[in-house]
Amino acid sequence: MKVLVINCGSSSLKYQLIDSDSEQVLAKGLCERIGIDGRLTHRPAGKDKVEMEVPMPNHTEAVSLVLKALTDKDHGVIGSLSEISAVGHRIVHGGEKFNSATILNDEVLKEIEECNDLAPLHNPANLIGINACRELMPNVPMVGVFDTAFHQTMPRVAYLYGLPYEYYKKYHIRRYGFHGTSHSYVSKRAAEILGKKPEDLKTIVCHLGNGASICAVKNGKSVDTSMGFTPLEGLVMGTRSGDIDPAIIEYIARKENISLTDVIDVLNKKSGIQGLSQESSDFRDLHAAAAKGNVNAQIAIDVFSYHVVKYIGSYAAVMNGVDVIAFTAGIGENDPIIRANVMGYLNYLGTELDPVKNDCRGEERIISTDDSKVVAMVIPTNEELAIARETVALVK
Ligand code: ADP
Repeated sequence: MKVLVINCGSSSLKYQLIDSDSEQVLAKGLCERIGIDGRLTHRPAGKDKVEMEVPMPNHTEAVSLVLKALTDKDHGVIGSLSEISAVGHRIVHGGEKFNSATILNDEVLKEIEECNDLAPLHNPANLIGINACRELMPNVPMVGVFDTAFHQTMPRVAYLYGLPYEYYKKYHIRRYGFHGTSHSYVSKRAAEILGKKPEDLKTIVCHLGNGASICAVKNGKSVDTSMGFTPLEGLVMGTRSGDIDPAIIEYIARKENISLTDVIDVLNKKSGIQGLSQESSDFRDLHAAAAKGNVNAQIAIDVFSYHVVKYIGSYAAVMNGVDVIAFTAGIGENDPIIRANVMGYLNYLGTELDPVKNDCRGEERIISTDDSKVVAMVIPTNEELAIARETVALVK
């Protein structure tokens, strides 16, 4: 069965066409600058990459171009659209309504729309992508896979903030967590690699990308995660501050004479390792700068690693132990220095890193020694495959 996976943002749309039997990617690509001008990059498996500047006044036009690219006689990978059996959509926020993937119909779309308030930058864009696909493929089943769904198993003690309880009741202010599809995929894969059942493991997944979060997975279920009401909480990230004293917000607004909205913008876009290093939000640049003696780049690397360690420690505490620590996403998969920094703090858990095994990028591998009490692993995440699997499971 061929499944089209769509991840739609406000001006971009990523897609993959996956053969769910072989789990091979038949084609993938990206539409950028939707509503501005338009650029399509299409990568069919086994054929040359195609790049073109094409007008994309709206998302429907972008989806239409993707479908044309997939069926094109030269760079297409399928004979006709009838070969696409289902579409899986990434949806950022499912609030408390969705604890698993769901078939998208009018009623469900209305409920997703009700969550827009919780993710005003992401959910409306996701919905536009869904509507564009429904318009162009009216008879193909569509499935929504939510970033928040995996974390709906968190217990109350983990998801409630120390705020007046009425805010939770009235405004749904609580920890939701994100990257759920990745945390779910990686924790299951870790169990598979170790030949164990997820129900028998305590796993800490470190999804360290430009956006970064950590998840405590106990017996296959998310029991806590570092992102919260929004993806701004938790770790120090590429450009996001992560945890700060909330009183700082008003203090900056006063000192800089800017609005609260502007402060939040600073916390989202100008903080994190970018803000600390004053250099870059990309760890490759930071390592290069630190190697040349740039002190701020080194500070950013150290602060980032330290916060990862703090979360690992707190999740080992709340799970009363940990069996597996899994690193994933851009930094987790590709940065042996950060992994070594983090693991260097964790000897008290009985973990021991094997520096030779740790010298790897983008591959599944156990990086702890054979004697290590906690298994440390690198597991490349694959959110698209996870979405395709969930889509197939519902459609079948
Ligand atoms: P997101 O999906 O949140 O945009 P990714 O998971 O793609 O982020 O991670 C992107 C980040 O991964 C980059 O900003 C960079 O810091 C880091 N990264 C990617 N490749 C490498 C590498 N080879 N070495 C170190 N860091 C890397």
